[in-house]
Amino acid sequence: MNQDLPIWIMEPELIHKRDLFARKLFEGGQKKALIPETPSIDDIKQQLREIREHARQNINSLVEELQTNLGHQYQQVEVKLAVDNIEAVRYIAEISDGIGIVSTNNSSIVSQELKPELLANGFTVINSYLDEFEAKKREILDYWDLPGLRDKNLLGTFGVSLKMAGLADTDNKKYLALLGVNAIAAEDGTVFFLQHFSNIYDDLKQANKVILVVGLDKIVKSRQDAAFQTKCMGIFGMESVLLDIEPKPSKPPSIAELSLPPGGKERELHLLILDNGRTNLLRGNFGDLFLCIGCRACNQHCPIRHSFTEVDYIWTPKNYLSQLLYGTSSSIDVCLHCEACRLECPLDIDLPLLMWQAKIDYINKHGRSLKHKILGTPEMLAKLGTAFALLANWMMRLKLARIPMEIIIGIDRRTKLPTFHFQTFRKWFEKNG
Ligand code: SF4
Ligand code: SF4
Repeated sequence: MNQDLPIWIMEPELIHKRDLFARKLFEGGQKKALIPETPSIDDIKQQLREIREHARQNINSLVEELQTNLGHQYQQVEVKLAVDNIEAVRYIAEISDGIGIVSTNNSSIVSQELKPELLANGFTVINSYLDEFEAKKREILDYWDLPGLRDKNLLGTFGVSLKMAGLADTDNKKYLALLGVNAIAAEDGTVFFLQHFSNIYDDLKQANKVILVVGLDKIVKSRQDAAFQTKCMGIFGMESVLLDIEPKPSKPPSIAELSLPPGGKERELHLLILDNGRTNLLRGNFGDLFLCIGCRACNQHCPIRHSFTEVDYIWTPKNYLSQLLYGTSSSIDVCLHCEACRLECPLDIDLPLLMWQAKIDYINKHGRSLKHKILGTPEMLAKLGTAFALLANWMMRLKLARIPMEIIIGIDRRTKLPTFHFQTFRKWFEKNG
């Protein structure tokens, strides 16, 4: 049996608002009973938890089932299982036929895990999602500016807006589209994307070669589960999308602006299943990260999120931790362990606890850095500062002394530091009290 791979795109829709309006209209009447009740956020979380737990516990059989079904039903799709990002990018380079332009969506698997390696291999990478938002001014600065959408129970606000069967034989351009998939059904291979505007559809429509990237954690049992999981990404991540709209320092060229040559008649569809450390996570203390759906809700109330606005992918506490675990970063020091991300997560993933665990593991493996050793003994620093107050204050004012302080201890050279005094408050109190 050979069919075209089903690719379904979900977008925001107005069903919930319509139902609310209809319920109001038919208040008290018989027709009201015909209008579906919207499930509570707790019910949604419970259902999502069951889907994710099933995926976590059955990942090996789900991968096998997916590969078998893809091979039997959709022979036009080239399937590749890559152990890590290096193998994945090697595969992309092999099938690229010299095409050097890659357009991506904004999924972290692409922007965080594959992009650095693609750049190192000479590809030009364009994030077509960021390209859609051209903000001149930042209007929403923090979570208190948000409209509180999630509390309005938005299950109905995302629906399947487009069902594609493989890639259509349309006119296409000579570039690669690398699209991180939001969920995929093992039992029939249906691929789901969540799209806010049109970037994903545009790439599916016009790229000569399309590579769908499936993290192992995106594989679920059925089409129904995959649809629900994708919908939940929309529901719980809706407000983070608003927070993410901010002016970028410079606007890179978009696919539309590049004059790309036509891609020829034959289009290619590849499906890249990527492990990249996910099975290792399952074996250790970080298995809960496998439950993550990538909704970015943990970002909303995080007090340190503004520290990461420079990067060209959308940062979340979960990505921050993953970077340390995948070895692409060596610190998670800026986390304040305030618990805000845990409270927002629809899967109750205890990110602050996992951050501690990761930090302990890192220190056990690599030892404490000089910075940690110095800042970890504030009493000694205070005693030295008061004993040599004049010298310490003079040095703190010296620009030349602040540069090594920034490099070694990590305190920004512009920071205004308190002044040391010979006489401590305790001594003053004993004398005058
Ligand atoms: S615990 Fe850390 S990562 Fe989570 S919200 Fe607080 S500062 Fe951010
Ligand atoms: S960890 Fe963050 S991105 Fe993952 S499910 Fe929880 S809130 Fe969403």
